[in-house]
Amino acid sequence: MIILVINCGSSSIKYQVLDMKNDNEYSLLAKGILERIAMPMSKLTHKPTGKTPVVMEMPVADHKIGMRIVLDALVNPEYGVISSFSDIDAVGHRIVQGAEYFDKSVLVDDEVIRKITVCCDFAPLHNPAHLLGIEAVSNVLPDVPQAVTFDTAFHQTMAPEVYMYALPYQYYKKYGVRRYGAHGTSHQYVSQRGAALAGIPLDNSRIITCHIGNGSSVTAIRNGKVVDTSMGFTPLEGMIMGTRCGSIDASLVPYLMKKENKTPDEMTALMNKESGFLGMSEGVTSDCRDLVDRREAGDERARLILAKLVLDITKLVGSYVAEMNGVDLIVFTAGIAENNPWLRRDVSANFAYLGAKIDEEVNAVARGSETIISTPDSKVKIAMIPTDEELVIARDTMHLVEDLRK
Ligand code: ADP
Repeated sequence: MIILVINCGSSSIKYQVLDMKNDNEYSLLAKGILERIAMPMSKLTHKPTGKTPVVMEMPVADHKIGMRIVLDALVNPEYGVISSFSDIDAVGHRIVQGAEYFDKSVLVDDEVIRKITVCCDFAPLHNPAHLLGIEAVSNVLPDVPQAVTFDTAFHQTMAPEVYMYALPYQYYKKYGVRRYGAHGTSHQYVSQRGAALAGIPLDNSRIITCHIGNGSSVTAIRNGKVVDTSMGFTPLEGMIMGTRCGSIDASLVPYLMKKENKTPDEMTALMNKESGFLGMSEGVTSDCRDLVDRREAGDERARLILAKLVLDITKLVGSYVAEMNGVDLIVFTAGIAENNPWLRRDVSANFAYLGAKIDEEVNAVARGSETIISTPDSKVKIAMIPTDEELVIARDTMHLVEDLRK
């Protein structure tokens, strides 16, 4: 079954085409990104498996035209990967916010569209773009079934005392103010892969997954179900990130707004786009690679920021150990945690008191493929698992379409 996986942002369309035989046998036919939609010049980077990648620049007025350009690249005789649009069996979309409406992936219908639209309120930068993507696909491929996979769905098993904030209860009832979490697809995937690799039965397990990339979150998962997660009402809460501040004293929000004469939108931008690595480095970089290079060159600020990164992860993992009364497996994933052995080593060292022991040699070279990085006698297993959210979306879409065909 050929599945087109779409991740629509406000000015971009990321895509992958997967040929799915079953859950475990599949091949990636192509992936790519169309960026800067509705700007003077857009850029398509298309990477067909086994063929030379292509980069093209052209003006793209909106997502509908963008979707057509992506599909044209997929059927191009030279760099395409399918012969016609009708080869596509289904399209799966990544959706950032599904709130309490969705605890699993579903096929798109009018009611689903209505609920995703209601959720725009919680994810004003993301959900409207996802809806544009669904509409664009409906336009270009009207007969192809579409499914949606939500970043929040895996987190829907949290208990009320975990997801409620100690604010007046009426705001939960009135506006849905609560913890929703994010990166759910990734936490679900790496926890399942990690448990399988470590030989831990998922239905009798305590797993902590650390998704550390540009956006970062840590999740506690007991018996395959989320117990707690660090992102909250929005993906701002939790730990330090590339440009996000993570959890801060809430009183700082009105304090800085008054001092700096900022509007709510400006304050939101400050916390989401001007903070984290970028803000703490006074605008030098939001990229972890630069910080590591600078720390190695003796830069004190880079040392401070990376020390905070390790501390934030440690505090979250430690609190989740307490919430689950122990941990069997810690999993590291996403750009930063997959590529920085020192980070995995330093965080793991803080759990030596639990008997967690990293294999320094294995850890130092673990990159790109699933690896157990703890020693055989470690009381807590530790793994590095490259995340693959698109695969989860493709699998879910495949199952939904199979059910539809029955
Ligand atoms: P996103 O949350 O946007 O998906 P990623 O998971 O790709 O982000 O993570 C991006 C982060 O990963 C950046 O801070 C980058 O520095 C870091 N990173 C990516 N590749 C490497 C690498 N080879 N070495 C060190 N850090 C890396």
